[in-house]
Amino acid sequence: MAPVLTAVTDHVHFAQTDLVNWTLVTGDDGVILIDAGFPGSRPDVLASLGELGFGVTDVRAILLTHAHIDHFGTAIWFAETHGTPVYCHADEVGHAKREYLEQASPLAVAAHAWQPRWLRWSVAIMRKGALTHAGIPSTLAFTEDLGAVLPGAPVAVPTPGHTGGHCSYLVDGVLVAGDALITGHPVASRPGPQLLPSMFNHDDAACRRSLSALGMLDAEVLLPGHGPLWRGPVRDAVDQATHASVS
Ligand SMILES: [Zn+2]
Repeated sequence: MAPVLTAVTDHVHFAQTDLVNWTLVTGDDGVILIDAGFPGSRPDVLASLGELGFGVTDVRAILLTHAHIDHFGTAIWFAETHGTPVYCHADEVGHAKREYLEQASPLAVAAHAWQPRWLRWSVAIMRKGALTHAGIPSTLAFTEDLGAVLPGAPVAVPTPGHTGGHCSYLVDGVLVAGDALITGHPVASRPGPQLLPSMFNHDDAACRRSLSALGMLDAEVLLPGHGPLWRGPVRDAVDQATHASVS
């Protein structure tokens, strides 16, 4: 499925696909990506850039919410082939370099494969390069000073839990939450604001603490790593996710 691109503000554009989302933030001197899909999402990422009138060399930087393959896959290619700078939270840099891996094990996922939606999802992500082991050796820690000079002047909102250095971003009044707060997922049994199933989370208790922290933000639009964009006070989405994830 090609990405569906939504203009959220003049500068923030949300690219949604059935498997994962990313965000484009435009400025006078180029564009940044927040997350970049699977390795196999490359044609879709390039299509989303093209739709806004940008090419590969216009990408000033890629910010990662976290270094899972579905969010940083195409950033591997950008960094390797075009030297595009890639940033994430300081606590996620080692993960992005693949000095270690904090991802649900294929065995844990396989245990669910008897459920049709899990099986369909597993096959779909394999096709997108989910088993790629490459990291991005050039990854750097995102800083306030750097954010200030990037398109949209994104501000980091650390949300550890899903991974140790997971980070959300506030840009143009919009919350880009990555996997700290999602609104749907191919393996989720119901739509709406929620946390990912705990087998995907490095530290479930930290996920819940980060979720509460997001509830204190003043944002009115939520761009999740998975699922449709969500309009309304983010604290309402947090409330729904808190109650949806009591299991
Ligand atoms: Zn994800």
